[in-house]
Amino acid sequence: MNKELEILIKLQSVDQFIVERKRDQQEIPKRLESLKKELEKARNNLEEAKKEKKELALKRREKEKLLDELAEKIADRKGRLFKVKSNEEYAALLKEIETFKEEISSTEDEIIIMLDKDEEIAQKIEEAEKKVKELERILKEEEKKCNELIQKIEKELKQAEEEKQELWQNLSDRIQRLYEKLKNTKGSAVARAANQTCHGCFTELPPQTFLEVKKGEKMIQCPFCGRILYYWEEEKPQDEG
Ligand SMILES: [Zn+2]
Repeated sequence: MNKELEILIKLQSVDQFIVERKRDQQEIPKRLESLKKELEKARNNLEEAKKEKKELALKRREKEKLLDELAEKIADRKGRLFKVKSNEEYAALLKEIETFKEEISSTEDEIIIMLDKDEEIAQKIEEAEKKVKELERILKEEEKKCNELIQKIEKELKQAEEEKQELWQNLSDRIQRLYEKLKNTKGSAVARAANQTCHGCFTELPPQTFLEVKKGEKMIQCPFCGRILYYWEEEKPQDEG
């Protein structure tokens, strides 16, 4: 095969490799992005649960204070029972005591509900903490993996650039310019020719052109898209399904 054509085929594959690896490189931070978002959400959930627990404790303290006040009121009214002069006053005090006792009972019920709720929240906090820790661990691992991958890709890119440089030096100015021009306008400079067809633009080639390409002695461009052609026929189509 024509020496420069051989170089061009290699050059294009190195170029494609570089493009793909650069794309992979850009995808890496995105992988961490969703994990970071998930972690942030888990941390927010934890903070909210902690806040809820604090607020509930505050409300419970108020209720407990109320219980103390009611107990004091009852003691006060009981003390007054011995001092009253009339039955009406006595009955009124007893009624008051009764009302306070009822209030104590309902407040105690409320406190029990709050204690249940507190246990529920404590459970929620425990689960949220576990989730945060787990996500932190996964993120750390992923970051490590990503850093390793970035380093690997950087190394591969450096090697590919060196390889490209070497191939490039062995091309004539004319071919270098043609390669660049085709790459910039068509996306690729070299195309495979097989089954009488240019696989760059998928147009059927004139028989004479195809024959010349098949020989591989000269640099032949596709008369339709301009890509530099090389012959490579698949040995046998693979069975499908
Ligand atoms: Zn073509």
